Amino acid sequence: MEMTSLKTILQNSGIAGCGGAGFPAYAKLSDKIDTVILNCAECEPLFKLHRQLLEANAEEIIATMDMLCTAMHAERFIVAVKGAYKKTVDAANAAIKDYARGSVCLLEEVYPAGDEVITVYEATGRIVPAGGIPAMVGCVVYNVETVLNIHRAIEEDKAVTHKYVTVAGEVKNPATYRVPIGMRYDELVALCGGVTVEEPVYFAGGPMTGKIAAASDVVTKTTNGILIMPQNHYIIQKRMQKTKVSIARTMSTCCQCRGCTDLCPRNLLGHPITPSDFMRAASNSDVRQTEAVLGALYCSQCGLCEMYSCIQGLNPRSLLSEAKMSFAKQGIRPIVVENNDSAKPERPYRKVPMRRLIARLNLEKYDVAAPVKTEEIQPAQVKLQLSQHIGKPATAIVKKGDKVQAGQLLAEAAKDALSLPVHASIDGEVIKVTDTAIVLKGTKK
Ligand code: SF4
Ligand code: SF4
Repeated sequence: MEMTSLKTILQNSGIAGCGGAGFPAYAKLSDKIDTVILNCAECEPLFKLHRQLLEANAEEIIATMDMLCTAMHAERFIVAVKGAYKKTVDAANAAIKDYARGSVCLLEEVYPAGDEVITVYEATGRIVPAGGIPAMVGCVVYNVETVLNIHRAIEEDKAVTHKYVTVAGEVKNPATYRVPIGMRYDELVALCGGVTVEEPVYFAGGPMTGKIAAASDVVTKTTNGILIMPQNHYIIQKRMQKTKVSIARTMSTCCQCRGCTDLCPRNLLGHPITPSDFMRAASNSDVRQTEAVLGALYCSQCGLCEMYSCIQGLNPRSLLSEAKMSFAKQGIRPIVVENNDSAKPERPYRKVPMRRLIARLNLEKYDVAAPVKTEEIQPAQVKLQLSQHIGKPATAIVKKGDKVQAGQLLAEAAKDALSLPVHASIDGEVIKVTDTAIVLKGTKK
């Protein structure tokens, strides 16, 4: 397929990256790419989504990777998957054998293997420049569910209406469901037998990069997982800490041991970020340390420094995030730094094993199977956000009282901007349209 036609299909089908910022898939297509990478690292602890999807749909996904190569005139594709996912690796090897330009790269069971800058390095040895994107080194990275959505759009003419979500933590039966986008978190948790603690805290995303959420929040195109945690759990307490308290604690206890810097995955790739220097500048309010402060622009927010590395239990990631947001508000963006062409020699010895991370986070008891359930889920109501990913929100084209069918276009992508349309995820009636969402009441019993 030609790239222009593929771009149109991906945009019209509303395909965003299934996780992270949700970069629209069509905008990643480029004729400057020589390597297409399938990201099956799934590095957040407890999530068991991509490995199961690749195992069950290896042929379709590998064929789609090959098609993406053809469309972009790329030389090869690489399936980057953790060696620990043995069944998934077997399925990928079996499906890839007929594709001369495809190969499987086995990733180590370390965190954060799925950060695409890290995945590119592990799969190709190339270092994405700090502040840059994989295309700058000839690579594009798609995750497993995104490629499955591309397959469905091309082969079955299906827009994105559903999302696979792993529900883990304090629920009776942890599982992975394919649910209509817009379904409430608590309804999804009810499918898993409900919560098993009093005063549960909903957490959207993985323990390392997720955020505290509400039971009434809804699934979007980027929701990979929901965790239910007791209020006194380490990851919840970390997330609840106020910036004022974090700064005060930094001032009194940061011993400048450099542990956060020594284990920082971006620093180890040679990117200009030194969280320990940032913490020193933050605790001294020292405006002269501009390099340390501007380093915040290159933080991936992987969370390793504050969830694992810091021996004093401080929160470098959260403070870096505050600085990054403040820069963004003022229109300050990272300058692309081209000169980091080699990783630090100590990098191989400073990777964080997943087992140790899970133990440090006190998550061992939650690290259980979360099998994919195949039953069709039909919520009574869905709320479809007009902004579900990076880029401009879509514009509603339906009104209250309209009857719609699953897959029908409800909101158009913004013109001449990075944007995606929104489609109905169930058959139903429009009961509310606001500036931010469309609410549908289901008509199927
Ligand atoms: S969150 Fe911490 S460890 Fe991760 S990239 Fe940022 S500074 Fe480095
Ligand atoms: S690891 Fe903690 S104590 Fe050590 S330099 Fe970093 S923030 Fe300070």
